[in-house]
Amino acid sequence: MNPQDFINLEDRYGAHNYHPLPVVLERGEGVYVWDVEGKKYFDFLSAYSAVNQGHCHPKIVKAMTNQASQLTLTSRAFYTSALGEYEEYITKYFGYDKVLPMNTGAEGDETALKLCRKWAYTKKGIPENQAKIIVCAENFHGRTITIISMSTDPDARNDFGPYTPGFVLIPYNNLDALEKELEDPNVAGFLVEPIQGEAGVHVPDNGYLKKAWELCKNKNVLFIADEVQTGIARTGKLLACDHENVRPDILILGKALSGGVYPVSAVLADDEIMLTIKPGEHGSTFGGNPVAAKVAVAALEVIRDEELAENAERLGKIFRNEFSSIKSEMIETVRGKGLLNAVVIKPKNGKTAWDVCLAMKDNGLIAKPTHNHIIRFAPPLVITEDQLREAMNIIKNTFKEFE
Ligand code: PLP
Repeated sequence: MNPQDFINLEDRYGAHNYHPLPVVLERGEGVYVWDVEGKKYFDFLSAYSAVNQGHCHPKIVKAMTNQASQLTLTSRAFYTSALGEYEEYITKYFGYDKVLPMNTGAEGDETALKLCRKWAYTKKGIPENQAKIIVCAENFHGRTITIISMSTDPDARNDFGPYTPGFVLIPYNNLDALEKELEDPNVAGFLVEPIQGEAGVHVPDNGYLKKAWELCKNKNVLFIADEVQTGIARTGKLLACDHENVRPDILILGKALSGGVYPVSAVLADDEIMLTIKPGEHGSTFGGNPVAAKVAVAALEVIRDEELAENAERLGKIFRNEFSSIKSEMIETVRGKGLLNAVVIKPKNGKTAWDVCLAMKDNGLIAKPTHNHIIRFAPPLVITEDQLREAMNIIKNTFKEFE
C-alpha cells in the first residue's frame, strides 16, 4: 500500500472528526517518527504533549509489556498487586493524600467536576443542585457533553445541546471577573488551565494563578487545575502551577502520565475532598488497571531520572530566542513556556499556517495548526540541544521558502 491508500482507508471507514496532516506514520523513537516510506521526521506535536518522554521509551514500554503478559485487567471489583504501589508513588510524587485513577483527560476533568460538586454539597453546605463552577472562555477540557457545555468554541458546541448547567464563564487571565463571580456563595470551584494549550498556548500574566488561588481560598472555593497538557514537565517545571508555587486543591493529569503508550489519567486531592466520593459513586472499568499502574510509575520515573523539566526549561528559552531571530512577515508572535510554544501566523499571498505545516512536513518536521492561524511547537522533552538546533534550521528554511 502507498501512503494515499492508508489515507483513503481512514477516510472511507473512519468518522471524519479529525483533519490530519497528510503523513502516514508507522514507527517512532525518541523525538523522531518515520512514515510508511521510511522518511524520518522530527515530531513537534508529541501527540498533544502525551509523548513528553519520547516515542516508545524503552523503560515505559518494558513496564507495559512485562505487566501485559502477567495481568492486564481485573476491574476495581478486586484488589491488584500493582495499583496500591502506583497510588502511593503518584501521591507522594505530587504531594497529595489520594489519587483517583481514570483513563483519558476528559474523564479526569469529569471526575474533578463531580468531586467538586460532591464536596460543595457535603462539606461546604451549598443547597442541593445549586453548585456553580467558574470556568474560563476559550478553555479546552475535552469532548464530553458536560465539558463542551463549558466551552466557548462553536466547533465544540454547535448542534450538541442541550448543555449541562452549573457553569459560569469568565474571560481567561482576568482577576476582576473572577473576584466578582466569587461573590456568589454557591460557587464551589474554579477550573482553569495554567496555560491554555488548545486555545493556542495562551500564557496568563505572571502572578495570575497565585492571585486566583488566593481569591478562591478567601471564599472557600476549590482551585482546580487542569494540567492534562501543561503538566508532567512540559512547561519547564513538573507542573505549570509550580511556576507560581500554587498547589491546586484538585489536580487533573493525563496525556504524559503514560508517556503516550497507554491512556492513563488521574485526579489528585486531599482526603477532605477525595473521601466525599463513596463506593459506587464514580469509577471506570479500566481506570487504575495493572498495566496503567505500571506504565504511569515508569513514565513518572523517566521524567525525574532524565530531568525532563529542566531540559524543557533550558531548551524552551533557546527555541523562543531562535524563533524571534527568524525574519518572516508570516510570523506575528512567538509565545510559550518551556517546550510548550506557539507561533501566530499572519497569512501571506493566500498561504496559511496549514501551508507552513505542509512545507515543514516536506522538510522533515511535523506540527499541526490550531485555530487556523496558530502553530504549536511541542517536541518530546527528551530532545537534545543539537536536535533542537537541527529542527530550528528546518523551521527557518521553511519560512524562507515563503518569502
Ligand atoms: N484537558 C486539557 C487541558 C487538554 O489539553 C486535553 C486534550 O487536549 C484534555 C483535557 C482532554 O484530554 P483527552 O483528549 O485525553 O480526553
